[in-house]
Amino acid sequence: MPSSIQLAASTEPDDLARPGIDDVVAAAARLQGVAHRTPVLTSRTADKKAGAQLFFKCENFQRGGAFKFRGAYNAIAALTDEQRRRGVVTYSSGNHAQAVAYAGKLLGTSTTIIMPKDAPALKIRATQEYGGQVQFYDRYTENREEIGRRLAQERGLTLIPPYDHPDVIAGQGTAMLELLDEAQHLDVLYVPLGGGGLLAGSAIAARAHLPNIRIIGVEPEAGNDGQQSLKAGKIIHIPAPKSIADGAVVTHVGHHNFPILQDLVDDIVTASDAELVATLRFFAERMKIVVEPTGCLGAAAAFASVNQHRGQQRVGIILSGGNVDLERYSKFLTESSHA
Ligand SMILES: *Cc1c(COP(=O)(O)O)cnc(C)c1O
Repeated sequence: MPSSIQLAASTEPDDLARPGIDDVVAAAARLQGVAHRTPVLTSRTADKKAGAQLFFKCENFQRGGAFKFRGAYNAIAALTDEQRRRGVVTYSSGNHAQAVAYAGKLLGTSTTIIMPKDAPALKIRATQEYGGQVQFYDRYTENREEIGRRLAQERGLTLIPPYDHPDVIAGQGTAMLELLDEAQHLDVLYVPLGGGGLLAGSAIAARAHLPNIRIIGVEPEAGNDGQQSLKAGKIIHIPAPKSIADGAVVTHVGHHNFPILQDLVDDIVTASDAELVATLRFFAERMKIVVEPTGCLGAAAAFASVNQHRGQQRVGIILSGGNVDLERYSKFLTESSHA
C-alpha cells in the first residue's frame, strides 16, 4: 500500500489506533490503587487434573466482579476533562455495564447504559445502584450500536464500547501484567474470548515479556466466531450464539482487536457448556471460589488439553469473572445432568 494512503488513514480520529505494551503499562499506572490487584491461586488437585502447574488469576475478585472494571476505568480516565464532564455512553447487558457505571461514579462522570429491556432485573438494578442511567431498547427490533452512536452525537457523550476500543484493550491487559509479575515464567496461557478485549490486552502484555509463550484464546463452542475468523484471515460474523457463557456470546470480534489476535495469539479453542459446568463445580467444590460460566472458559480448556501439557509446564489462566445469578448458579451446582 502506498505510504500516502496509510498516512491519510492514520489521521482518522482513533480509527484502528493499535495499543501496545506502553499503553498497557500506562493503564496499570492509572489503575494503581483503584483496581484490586487480584490474587493468583494454585491448587494441587487442579494441577493433577491438567497435568501441568496452573496459576489462576482471579478476576472474579475484581471490583464489580470481573476484569471489565480495568478497561472501563482506563478508558474513562484517559478522556479529557471536557469529555468526562459531558459523560459517557455504552451498551451492554452484562459486566461491562456495571463496570462503566462503577468507574464513572469513581471518576465523577455521568454514565448512560443502553440495556435490552428484557435484561435480568438483577443486572439492571446493579447498574443503577452504581449510578448508571439505564436506557432500554428492544434487542429484537433495534440496533444497540446505532442507538449508542446517536445518543453520543445528540448529547455530546463519549462512547465506550465493551471491547472494540484501544483504551479498553490496554486496561484489560493489566491483569496479565500482574499475573506475569507474580508467576514469573509461564509457558502457556488460556484466556477467555468474547469480543477480544481481554485476549488482545493479555496478548500484548504477555508477548512483550515472554516472546515465546503460547497464547490460547477460549470461546464457547456454540460461538466460535473468533476461531473461524483467525482461520479465514478476516472477521467472521455469526448469528447470536446460545451458551451459558453469556459474557462471551458475541457475533464477531472487534475491529481493533482482530489484527492483534492475528499477530499475537497462537490458537483459539472452544469449551462446551457441559465442560463449563463441570469446571464451575470444580471451583466451588475444590477451590471454594465462585466463578461465572464465562469465567470458566480458560480453565475448562486447560483441563481438556491435559495430553498437550508436559509435566512441568507452567500454565496461566484468567478466571475472568464471578457474577452469577444465585438461582441459576445453584442449578449448575446441583443438576448433575449438566456435567
Ligand atoms: C466480557 C467478558 C469476557 C469476554 O471478554 P472480551 O473482552 O469481550 O473478549 C469473558 N469473561 C467475562 C466474565 C466477561 O465479563
